[in-house]
Amino acid sequence: MTPDNPSRRSRRKEVLRELGLGPLWRARAPMGPSAAQDTIAPAFPADAIAGRVAAIRSMDWSELEASVAACTACGLCRSRTHTVFGVGDRRADWLCVGEGPGAEEDARGEPFVGPSGRLLDNMLAAVGLMRGRGVYIANIVKCRPPGNRNPAPDEMEQCAPYLARQIELIQPRLIVTLGRIAAQNLLHTDASIASLRGRLHRHAGIPVIVTYHPAYLLRTLADKAKVWEDLCFARSTMQDLMPAG
Ligand code: SF4
Repeated sequence: MTPDNPSRRSRRKEVLRELGLGPLWRARAPMGPSAAQDTIAPAFPADAIAGRVAAIRSMDWSELEASVAACTACGLCRSRTHTVFGVGDRRADWLCVGEGPGAEEDARGEPFVGPSGRLLDNMLAAVGLMRGRGVYIANIVKCRPPGNRNPAPDEMEQCAPYLARQIELIQPRLIVTLGRIAAQNLLHTDASIASLRGRLHRHAGIPVIVTYHPAYLLRTLADKAKVWEDLCFARSTMQDLMPAG
């Protein structure tokens, strides 16, 4: 990252205002602690797991959507209202990956709606993007974990083939992970966001940049400037990844 200076600080303030991250932002109610897990992954034999993964890897978009909508591969299917498949440009250069649906997303079947969705839209606008144009938004798990708890490892494992297939179909130039769960899951690490930020990682050969989840940012205003740094890094990385001319 480049050293800070007065003009950069001034530009940062300007963009933070554009992001709607001034002092008037009010934290929403904190996400609840991990609720009691009520999920028991079905005990699939190894052949069945391999067959399911292979079937998902051959799906086109409509087959993939139908498969997610009918999925009962993990216990999250029992408490969901809607599956939340993902939304946006299916030929996007940018892929944003969050953790999983919250209450509003579960009710509407779309990722990142409500306050954190509005903040994500502002974050995208800060790098010249609009939801649905040049960017696709998806989550690690497609069904809401009860009480907004973190998805369990077996739930993420069962859902992983869907995101993997979305990535194969989209072929984004750059993935931006939003929050700890998405970063740790895609990068196969237990490292903290703080230690992963500011560096270029790879997932399936695709460059990955790590930043905070908008819902976290709404609660932790002290970290808002770091998101601006991450967005600048993402924007300059994308410029480097674009073909010359
Ligand atoms: S979270 Fe994923 S694996 Fe679990 S039921 Fe929903 S779509 Fe299926």
